Amino acid sequence: MPTRFFNTYSRELEDFRPLDPAGKRVKLYTCGPTVYNFAHIGNFRAYVFEDLLQRHLEARGYEVERVMNLTDVDDKTIRGCRQLGVRLAEFTQKFKDAFFEDLGALRVKRAQHFPAATDYVAQMIEMIRVLEQKGIAYQAEDKSLYFRLSKFPEYGKLAHLNLDELRPSGRISSDEYEKESVGDFALWKAWNENDGDVKWDSPWGPGRPGWHIECSAMATALLGPELDIHCGGVDNIFPHHEAEIAQSECVTGKKFARYWMHNAHLMVDGQKMAKSAGNFYTLRDLLAKGWTGREVRYALITVNYRLPLNFTFDGLAGARSALGRIDEWVARLADHTASAILPDDLPAQFAKGVEAFFTDLDDDLNISGAMGRLFDLIRDSNRALDSGEINAAVAAAILDGWNRINSVLGFQRDAVTPSPDVLALVEERQIARANKQWPESDRLRDAIAALGWVVKDTKDGPKLLPKAHCGP
Ligand SMILES: [Zn+2]
Repeated sequence: MPTRFFNTYSRELEDFRPLDPAGKRVKLYTCGPTVYNFAHIGNFRAYVFEDLLQRHLEARGYEVERVMNLTDVDDKTIRGCRQLGVRLAEFTQKFKDAFFEDLGALRVKRAQHFPAATDYVAQMIEMIRVLEQKGIAYQAEDKSLYFRLSKFPEYGKLAHLNLDELRPSGRISSDEYEKESVGDFALWKAWNENDGDVKWDSPWGPGRPGWHIECSAMATALLGPELDIHCGGVDNIFPHHEAEIAQSECVTGKKFARYWMHNAHLMVDGQKMAKSAGNFYTLRDLLAKGWTGREVRYALITVNYRLPLNFTFDGLAGARSALGRIDEWVARLADHTASAILPDDLPAQFAKGVEAFFTDLDDDLNISGAMGRLFDLIRDSNRALDSGEINAAVAAAILDGWNRINSVLGFQRDAVTPSPDVLALVEERQIARANKQWPESDRLRDAIAALGWVVKDTKDGPKLLPKAHCGP
């Protein structure tokens, strides 16, 4: 079965074929954060889903070129810097840095490009100029420029909306009186005093870009006029992605994106996440409660992206124990082999399980199916280990299979080395054992465990293993 994805545009599962005639390169654009605050776990659901998409495409041999933009000028960032009385760039830098830290904790692969909107204002102005020349952009009384929706009949197709529904039926609200039509969206916002010193010169006077044109300009500047896949959360479909399509296609005359993929909402304990409901979490909040980035990644990635994700602390606890099971399995296989041993061919029963993991993901990233395959593989190989059917070369081959799977999941526990304190305690314990001081030996074992390590006594001496459930 070829890789296929649900395309929001057609509302159908479609076989994936990139534009590249060689069928190799994939251009992926993903809407990034507005850097006015710490991103919350609902935002990260999108970035983790996109990471799964990228990693799976790479596992299937594609070369993915990914862009994730940073919105560092809009109403919210301007309000934030004005409230603190600092410059916009200073205000947003803090949240840009925090965002990259969070991506690291969640093991999200870095995009090739993280363009910041403020570095692409010239390209945005150029696009708006072209739209104006074509009679698609117009300047209203308030000096702002708007997109004339009547010039783009395709508007609404992605969201499957009837454009007539967007037309005002009665009274038009007073702040929109300058626009020709209520649905027309801003391309360029003329400066006003609320913007403070945030402004750029343009052919239409000082001002700043609208949010939608930021993505069109950065996507086409870095990836060209045609993208293979464009992603985002369902919240972005309308109006943001509709506007991106309208602007880009009117400028380039080409189809902007071939596949549109959107992840569903994240709920917390069955409710919409909101500051007022007290169920609003940033990644930082969860790390402060003792959860690890790896556990949060697991909880976010293992629900199929088109299904709503109900985020709960029980779910996180489930992630912790599932990762513990994986860690124990990997440690057991590693114990059963050695780095010098060449892996055998994977026996058919296990090879089928590894392949099934990837074919499930080919089916619109069916991660719940794929995780089922992984846990079947864990169960079956643990049984085979129990009954002594697996030799060192087969264990090495299963580990190879795990490494392939993990290149997509990003779940492997970081290699950790015991601290000198732990090693000193192990040495003390050896002396206690040699002197048959059993209570002292037990006390030292507990002290070692408190530092996150399990000591196992083998015929070759003591062996240290990281405690399965203590992260990271
Ligand atoms: Zn966007």
